[in-house]
Amino acid sequence: MSIEIIVKANNLSKHYMIKKGIWSFLGGGKGFTIKAVDQINFEIMRGEIFGLAGESGSGKTTTGRMLALLEKPTYGSIIFEGTDLASLKGKELKHFRRKVQMIFQDPYESLDPRLKIYDSIYEALAIHSIGSSKQERTKIIKETLENVGLSPPEEFLNRYPHELSGGQRQRASIARAIVLKPKFIIADEPVSMIDTSVCAGILNLMMKLRSTMNVTYIFITHDLAIARYICDRLAIMYQGKIRELGHTEDVINKPLHPYTKILLSSVPIPDPGFKRQRIRIPGEWDIFYNQMGCKFHGRCPNANEKCTKEEPELREILPEHWVACHLYAF
Ligand code: SF4
Repeated sequence: MSIEIIVKANNLSKHYMIKKGIWSFLGGGKGFTIKAVDQINFEIMRGEIFGLAGESGSGKTTTGRMLALLEKPTYGSIIFEGTDLASLKGKELKHFRRKVQMIFQDPYESLDPRLKIYDSIYEALAIHSIGSSKQERTKIIKETLENVGLSPPEEFLNRYPHELSGGQRQRASIARAIVLKPKFIIADEPVSMIDTSVCAGILNLMMKLRSTMNVTYIFITHDLAIARYICDRLAIMYQGKIRELGHTEDVINKPLHPYTKILLSSVPIPDPGFKRQRIRIPGEWDIFYNQMGCKFHGRCPNANEKCTKEEPELREILPEHWVACHLYAF
């Protein structure tokens, strides 16, 4: 089976210059630059589920929004199916918007609360001129609702989003995304607002759609247990940079980066007899310090002098396992 790259990010960066208030003062009157995402590189293969994990403010959501063209990169490029997204205009841009869909943490971001489920999905079909008549579009909508487990569809067509449970609402937002037959889905914390009891159902649905529709995902999460369940490969982000990247089982079972080890030490193990030593992370996430060197050095239990001066690069330390840390420099 040939491996095809569907998405490639080259030095992708999003910097925000803030010139008001204290930010101006911190920047010596010229403004202060926050590097939400800073020169990250990765490739996503067709059909895979690529995870982006990290704590709040790590840059994972901003990365997802750039991939969906909801944010413009400050530097770098995104290549989708061989085309630089910065070059898309007119019909090509509209076609891209059909091929790439987002599933949000909050389903209300894709479902208009004033529209019935039928009308929300119909709107997506109409925008992209899918289906030649109302009957044909209704048939597509019913099939899609069945596909996402909202069955029988007649029970859901005329309901408003607020009349659905959290799990049903997320299924409806997935239906709105997949009705356009996308090639790539950016799922941003899609189960973090859902009860644990229905979370597995949504994840299983996403995996089923991957095999039945050959859809590729980038799956953004702060939850490593969920990442382990669904992702083929996993990138760990911290302060706008990828710190570790590899096959999910390697990253979870044999973490190399100190930050990944700390994150993993806080994941609960469903075994009452198992006692894992929790590693406490000192200090707070801080955008002011660590502007020099490794951004993690103020909190890292393994930091040395080099860490305060040089930013480590992401290197392949083990086969297909990349880490940005001076501990592995050679
Ligand atoms: Fe810790 Fe230094 Fe590695 Fe950064 S480069 S994670 S500070 S050991």
